[in-house]
Amino acid sequence: MANYVCSVGMEVHAELATKSKMFCRCQVAFGGEPNTRTCPVCLGLPGAMPVPNRVAIEMVIKTALALNCKIAMNSIFHRKNYFYPDLPKGYQVSQYGEENPLGYHGYLDIPAAGGGTKRIGIRRVHLEEDTGKLMHLPSGGSGVDYNRAGTPLMEIVTDFPPDIHNGDEAKEYMTQLRQILLYLGVCDGKMEEGSMRCEPNISIRPEGQEELGVKSELKNLNSFRSVQLGIAFEVRRQSAMLDAGEKVLQETRGWNEQKESSFAMRLKEAENDYRYFPCPDLVPMQFTEDYVECLRSNLPELPLAKFMRYQKEFGLNDYDANLLTSDVEWARWFEEAIQKGGEPKAICNWMNSEFAKLINEEGILARQSKITPEHLVQLTNLIADGTISGKIAKKVFMDAYQTGKMPAELVKESGSTQITDDSAVRPIIEAVLAANPDVVEKYKSGQQSVRGFLVGQIMRESQGRANPAVVNKLLEELLQ
Ligand SMILES: [Zn+2]
Repeated sequence: MANYVCSVGMEVHAELATKSKMFCRCQVAFGGEPNTRTCPVCLGLPGAMPVPNRVAIEMVIKTALALNCKIAMNSIFHRKNYFYPDLPKGYQVSQYGEENPLGYHGYLDIPAAGGGTKRIGIRRVHLEEDTGKLMHLPSGGSGVDYNRAGTPLMEIVTDFPPDIHNGDEAKEYMTQLRQILLYLGVCDGKMEEGSMRCEPNISIRPEGQEELGVKSELKNLNSFRSVQLGIAFEVRRQSAMLDAGEKVLQETRGWNEQKESSFAMRLKEAENDYRYFPCPDLVPMQFTEDYVECLRSNLPELPLAKFMRYQKEFGLNDYDANLLTSDVEWARWFEEAIQKGGEPKAICNWMNSEFAKLINEEGILARQSKITPEHLVQLTNLIADGTISGKIAKKVFMDAYQTGKMPAELVKESGSTQITDDSAVRPIIEAVLAANPDVVEKYKSGQQSVRGFLVGQIMRESQGRANPAVVNKLLEELLQ
């Protein structure tokens, strides 16, 4: 059996989060009664004239800048001609050429398997329009829904020859890319609804061979996991074929999520000739340096940069920094708490445990809950200065979550401040020891393990308010 090198090219389509379609004013939304969001322009009726969506163009340039691309200062739209029922005009408005797409020749750094980062080349980021959807009707036959037709669609294509060499890297690339789109607010990133779609092409070649092998293209991948599994499956399938002396066919294959395997959809004998030509209905786009620089300087801090900064600036580990930065809203919430005087590690611990648990159970976002960054700052400060114990803090947090009251107020109301004074803790310990003479006897005869029982009783007697350090110190003394 030979050793094979796998190469994966990624084509990602992202529906842009604009209010209206690319060339008309029809609303962009998911689902709905078929063909209710259409007009003469997106239906391609004769004589209808398209007007480009300025916001969509800006979104693509911002993405291209975030992906370190060069920007085409002069860029045009092309017509990509083919006939298929989901395409009402008989052509799709797209962008063709090496340096004509709005963004070209960039890269995205992804976390590498052995630490550090790996650079994935990006060939182009271009703007086009989405097609309609074919659907099987319950009554038999097929129908077409043009609600999606004309939705602004951004295509992001990796460089050739590909830098991605396995399913794990492809999944990491998708994860990073999706986070960037969410940070920029240009796409909702919902793979299950198809607003972010990916079609990897996968080939293998024997180690040492320069030329890439025959590739298959994979469709219907609607989660990160299916991207990872789908590519790994293709590598196994193609390796087995080459080992058996068979030839890999150039084909489009579909992914079956349930069976975790791919199936042949259609052969690709030759590249289609789409007869691209400049769209005569759309004027060329021209941008000034000032405009592009203004967009560049307004880019937010991107996920990977934030991830690294959280480690460096706040001393957080990989796991914590990753949890906080994987969602831009979650990261903003954290930063607000730090700005208001929270201690980073303490805030992070509460966010990623108690707080995350409660909002996930309820299925809401942090900002939809009654807990504000101020709540967590106050709570963690009350623990840090010894006013309340960690155990009481959990109860206070729960009450704050339900009522929205501030932690200091809740502590005052319930009188649950921590008892740190020796003279207040001592009588509690004495009472517990007096009530458990047999346990004390066991301890004195060398059975050290019963100490935990005594501590538990003391904490219970004090309703969780005794300071654990004081309890330990005094217990030691009194047991002598
Ligand atoms: Zn329309």
